[in-house]
Amino acid sequence: MINPATEEVMGRISDGTIEDLNRAVAAARAAFPSYSQTSKEERIDLLNRIADEYEKRKEDIIEVVTQELGAPITISEKTHYYMGLAHFRQAAKELEDFEFSERRGGALIRKEPIGVSGLITPWNFPTNQTSTKLASAFAAGCTVVLKPSELTPFAAIILAEIFDAAGVPKGVFNLVNGSGEVVGNGISSHPDIDFVSFTGSGAVGQKITENAAKTIKKVALELGGKSPLVILDDSDMMKAAQIAVSNVIFNTGQVCVAASRTLVPKSKHDEFVEAVKAILPNIPYGDPQEKSNIFGPLVSERQYNRVQGYIQKGIEEGATLVCGGPGKPEGLEKGYYVKPTVFTNVTNDMTIAQEEIFGPVMSIITYEDLDEAIEIANDTIYGLAGYVVGEDKEKIEKVATSIRAGSIRVNNAPAEMSAPFGGFKQSGIGREWGSYGIEEYLEVKSIVGIPS
Ligand code: NAP
Ligand code: MG
Repeated sequence: MINPATEEVMGRISDGTIEDLNRAVAAARAAFPSYSQTSKEERIDLLNRIADEYEKRKEDIIEVVTQELGAPITISEKTHYYMGLAHFRQAAKELEDFEFSERRGGALIRKEPIGVSGLITPWNFPTNQTSTKLASAFAAGCTVVLKPSELTPFAAIILAEIFDAAGVPKGVFNLVNGSGEVVGNGISSHPDIDFVSFTGSGAVGQKITENAAKTIKKVALELGGKSPLVILDDSDMMKAAQIAVSNVIFNTGQVCVAASRTLVPKSKHDEFVEAVKAILPNIPYGDPQEKSNIFGPLVSERQYNRVQGYIQKGIEEGATLVCGGPGKPEGLEKGYYVKPTVFTNVTNDMTIAQEEIFGPVMSIITYEDLDEAIEIANDTIYGLAGYVVGEDKEKIEKVATSIRAGSIRVNNAPAEMSAPFGGFKQSGIGREWGSYGIEEYLEVKSIVGIPS
């Protein structure tokens, strides 16, 4: 594994084989009958014990995410560490009011754990993406096999130690490191896995769905996005630029819900661009070990090349560079650093407006009226998130309800851990977080005729 800030080897992991996977699936299968029968109270207790042990490993988690992902130490704490913790605490809380059975007329309806769940996660949020799946699975009574990204495997190894310390029963959690081609493909096609929950790229999501079809396996997919941020004409442009910039540079732009298309009223374009130019160059970035930095390098050389390719494409297709551009930032030649880049005069048919870049690149697109803004916002294969910045309640509601996406954030409101997270259209299938996340890991059974 390479530390993306230093380009030096930070550690090694085993390259799992199909035999390793088979052993893990067998262990999960063997543990399922007893774990699936545990009571809600036992599982609440287990999730809280996990959260307690997680808190004890705070420093280790922050350090490992900083090293493997390149997230600045403050972001590793404020986002990566806390998001992971929040999912375990939230799942425990959700279980308290969760009803696993109900009566409808003469029927008893039961929600039962779906079985052995295969979890495949990406590198961009090494604790959040794993924890949301694991917390929901454990809450539902499922046993799991986890394959984290080969780029960021060390946070998951700490999680394994946490589960051990918390007394997660034998066989409930199984970790198999390795490549997507071997272990990932093995999970999606395994006859003894009942459900696959995946977060990552659309191409791999498609492959997983095709494989899963052969054994009629349920899949949940959390894929990419090209989320619009609609700035209303009554916005303060300085405030709007701050929100727009922060939602595109966060985690070095490696965020599925990144606000990568900024929709600005034509009449406010120049004022908005001036505001972006005033804000962006003052944002400190670089060495992840430096507390004041807001973002660090991209995760890998491949990701660096990908983002460079899109910056080049934006220039070739005729967009206007406002800030940043190709190449490495001055003084940051070592490490996979890119310049935060803003393009304007972008039209929605350009590649940089249609494809997920997964880097700190903003595309500014202008609109004439709100109907056009909504049309542009929805002119994408994706539907993961949307953002609105403005004052007028009616206009905010109109945009928020018209964008075809799974979550909408108005004026940078804080995230709600109990609310569902997931995508419309090609951004995915299913929901994570809170009780909606737990539902994914349950099958519904109806029983009629039980003597009363
Ligand atoms: P990816 O290839 O989709 O990887 C995500 C996970 O799937 C990793 O654990 C990966 O394993 C695994 N995988 C790869 N091939 C597989 C297969 N055939 N069957 C099952 N699992 C497989 O994503 P990436 O290569 O890391 O990133 C590429 C692009 O995907 C990014 O640039 C971004 O646009 C998008 N992405 C989106 C999200 C999101 O949150 N929606 C997250 C990450 C990336 P390995 O360890 O071998 O890679
Ligand atoms: Mg990959």
